[in-house]
Amino acid sequence: MHFDCQTCGACCYGPEEYVAVTAVDLCRMSTPQQARYVSKTGDRLFLKMVHGHCAALHARQDHFSCRMYGARPQPCKLVEPGSRECLTARQRRRMSDVD
Ligand code: SF4
Ligand code: SF4
Repeated sequence: MHFDCQTCGACCYGPEEYVAVTAVDLCRMSTPQQARYVSKTGDRLFLKMVHGHCAALHARQDHFSCRMYGARPQPCKLVEPGSRECLTARQRRRMSDVD
């Protein structure tokens, strides 16, 4: 089964405190990326969510991309197309998996 992330973006949608960010993740990000895309709750860090999706997600006309792909945190890297996390995210967004 082929999954095209650029027409999907499903795993970048979620609730507040959806993706935890560690100190190691933070080190990979530039200062502007940290300011734009990371939020703090108590002493824990998360990706900032805006309108139900990660603030770093660029979504336009059914085309999706990550504004900090090279510096995305570890949990994002673990979601491989076709993985259980991917399928769950797609199901949550009610996307068809027949492509
Ligand atoms: S990993 Fe899966 S859920 Fe995430 S963008 Fe790619 S196809 Fe969509
Ligand atoms: S950092 Fe990139 S890959 Fe991770 S949730 Fe945000 S937009 Fe998606």
